[in-house]
Formats: sequence, structure tokens, C-alpha cells
Amino acid sequence: MMKYTKVTGEVVTELEKIVGAKNVLTDMDSMDKYSHDESASKFKAFPEIVVKPQNTEQVSKTLSLANEKRIPVTFRGQGTGLSCGAVPLLGGILMSFEDMNKILEIDEGNLVAVVESGVVLLNLREELERKGLFYPADPGEKSSAIGGNVCTNAGGMNGVKYGNTRGYILGLEAVLPSGKILKLGGKTIKRSTGYELMHLIIGSEGTLAAVTKIILKLIKLPKLFITLYVPFPNLHDAIKTVPEIIRRKITPTAIEFLEREPLLLAEEHLGKTMPHHEAEAYLILRINGEKEDELLEVGEAVAEICMENNASDVFIADTKEAQDKIWDLRGRFYEALVQNKTVKLVDTVVPPSTVADYMKEVKRISEKCGVRIMGFGHAGDGNVHLHLMKDKLSDEEWKKK
Ligand SMILES: Cc1cc2nc3c(=O)[nH]c(=O)nc-3n(C[C@H](O)[C@H](O)[C@H](O)COP(=O)(O)OP(=O)(O)OC[C@H]3O[C@@H](n4cnc5c(N)ncnc54)[C@H](O)[C@@H]3O)c2cc1C
Repeated sequence: MMKYTKVTGEVVTELEKIVGAKNVLTDMDSMDKYSHDESASKFKAFPEIVVKPQNTEQVSKTLSLANEKRIPVTFRGQGTGLSCGAVPLLGGILMSFEDMNKILEIDEGNLVAVVESGVVLLNLREELERKGLFYPADPGEKSSAIGGNVCTNAGGMNGVKYGNTRGYILGLEAVLPSGKILKLGGKTIKRSTGYELMHLIIGSEGTLAAVTKIILKLIKLPKLFITLYVPFPNLHDAIKTVPEIIRRKITPTAIEFLEREPLLLAEEHLGKTMPHHEAEAYLILRINGEKEDELLEVGEAVAEICMENNASDVFIADTKEAQDKIWDLRGRFYEALVQNKTVKLVDTVVPPSTVADYMKEVKRISEKCGVRIMGFGHAGDGNVHLHLMKDKLSDEEWKKK
């Protein structure tokens, strides 16, 4: 087991010199926010000190000092992770990138953006939208930071058409524990020189290096969207529709599945209602395009495939308002379920065509154990979010489960 040392008064003074006294926190109250992420358990571990670097040089000097003194360092973007990656389990230094939040360049000619790692996804999206550009990687939590998205290789609802974060990273600036600054990749698409260290760092959850700057690949902002909201009598029919759509060479940007129970909970939590409640399962699909008539034609083709697969109806939302209502509700499922006493969140991925069988098995286990398990997720790429609900069980009863 590696031996670490504590943050002494002398180290605090040195860190204050590196990042400035106002960018160092040591009192428990102000460090509370840095002791957990958004995982359902809200597991907590306090750092000994929080450091907020303002630039790469400060990151480098801090890491070099920590390395010399053998003090553990945990990196944090916006702390929206669900697996405690940003929780400082070993104490030591919590390095927060929240102040390194500048969009450094938007190169419209080359469809590239250069950002500091603390830039919040939503802010980048809005800035790009104003220029008619789009960064497609799309984790559900838009308040996450791009650095956090890179280090978790975040996926999301757009995954079925656009893939995960990794596909949109052209270059990184990263700092090794020694303090050495690496510049990996670049603005060009074609690169074939040597080992691709950049891809080792993407998804490494802060275990290899601190990411300080990111070069992102962009696409043109799709002009038009429609959303289809489709009730089915059961999950099996909903899921078997998905490969049928893909087989006909239609690629929606998002295909989400949900079941009735979490939908009702989300409606209650948000005080909003969807058009249909009787169905056991639903698909929500978003399709984008450049021309209205072509987009509607694709929408009708998808509707037809859904009806061939026993859908009870197809609601097509084409106004922004109607679509936002549907996606807002879907986007806030996590919040609704956590409020209803989710005690554990399990994020799994299975081959897309097996989602219904997987959920059947989950239900069998749920009934056997007497624990309610709610499932929903990305039908397009087989990413299923399971929420294990404590409901009215006492702590004692829960422990026995
Ligand atoms: C409601 C909700 C919905 C979500 N939906 C999705 C989803 O659809 N898809 C998905 O993939 N995730 C999802 N997440 C999880 C989370 O939002 C993502 O993992 C996101 O990428 C985390 O970003 P963050 O800035 O909050 O990172 P943090 O939680 O702060 O950190 C995540 C990990 O990255 C490391 N890290 C952060 N910044 C750096 C850096 N600059 N250098 C080195 N390491 C760093 C941390 O040490 C940690 O290991 C969701 C979370 C919530 C609460």
C-alpha cells in the first residue's frame, strides 16, 4: 500500500503561493461541496485542502509539489459524476477546475473549439449555437464540465447517432503527476504519428493526468428536429422496434426507452403530464434533418415501423415547445427517482436488442428480493440506468436485503 503524507501548514503556505490564497479552501464548511459527487448514495470524504488553479502553470506546480511531498490529489470538474471518481477518498488535495472555464477559441473555418477543462457543457453549447455550430457529445447532466466529460468519456442520449465524447476530441493539454505538461493531438483530423496517448487519458477518470485544455471537433448545428413519443403495450415490443428502425437506414439522434412507473413518478415530481399513461412502455425518438419535408417523411416512416411493431399510437412533436416538454421530463428522471429514495444507481450496458430480456431478468430479481428497481435509458446504445429504491424500508430492513 502506497504511503501518503498529510497536508501540513507549510504545504498550505506553498499552495497559497502557487494559486493565490483566495483560491485555497481549508475550512470544513466551504469544503463540504467538494466532499461528494452526485451519486445516489451521496458518499462523502473530505479533502484536507481544496485548490482552484487559474492556469496550467499553477496545475503543474501544484502537482509537482504534491508529488515531491507524496500527497494524494483528486481532480474535480463539476462533481456531477455518479461513481465517486471526484470524491477525495484519500484526503489530500482536491484540485477543482471550476475557474479554468474559458472558451479560448472557436475556429469556424476548421470546425474546432479550444476550451479550458472547466468549461461547463451548457455554456459551450449555447456559445456554439449562436454561431450555428454544435458539439454533439451529450451526457444528461449539462452542468458537467468538458474536462469531466473527457475523463469519463461521457456518453448520452445523442450516442446512437454521434457516439461518445472520445469521438470529438482532437487534442488535449494534460499535466502528469511530475508536473510535466504534455500537448497531445492537435487541430488536424489526420494524425498517424506514434502512440495515441491522448486516448489513454480520455476516460481515465483523473488517474493518469490532469486535463487542462481540450481541442474539440464540432459539426454544423442541425437545422430541424422532430420528436416522436410512442406508447407500446410492453417493453418487448418497444425494444424490438429499435433494430427495425436502424435496419431501414434511419439513424435518430436519440432513442430512449422508459416504463410506466418511472414516467408516473417523474410526472408527479415535475407537475407535468405526457399525452399517454395507459401504456406499459414508451420510446422517445429525436430525428434531425435539414429540410422540413424530408424530415417529416422520415418521421412518418419511423411512425409506420412503430405501428407495425404494435405501438398503440405515435405522437409527433414538431414545435420546439412540445419537444422541450418531452425532453425536459426525460432529462429529469434521475432527479425524480432520487427524490423518491433511490439508494443505489447501477449504470449498465447490454447489446441494444437484449434490453427487454435484461429488464425481464431485473424484474425477476427485484421481485425475489422485494426491492423495487426502476429502469430506463438509451435504447439506441443499450445503456440502461437502474435505480434501486429504498421506498419505505427502514435502514435495518434495507441492510438485510
Ligand atoms: C442527472 C445526471 C445525468 C447524467 N447523465 C449522464 C449521461 O447521460 N452519460 C454519462 O456518461 N454521464 C452522465 N452523468 C454523469 C456525469 O454527468 C458525467 O460523468 C460527467 O462527464 C461528469 O463531469 P463532471 O465535470 O461533473 O466531472 P466530475 O464528476 O467532477 O469528475 C468525473 C471524473 O473525472 C475526473 N476529472 C474531472 N475533471 C478532470 C480534469 N480536468 N482532469 C483530470 N480528471 C478530471 C474526476 O477525478 C472524476 O474521476 C449524469 C449525471 C447526472 C447527475
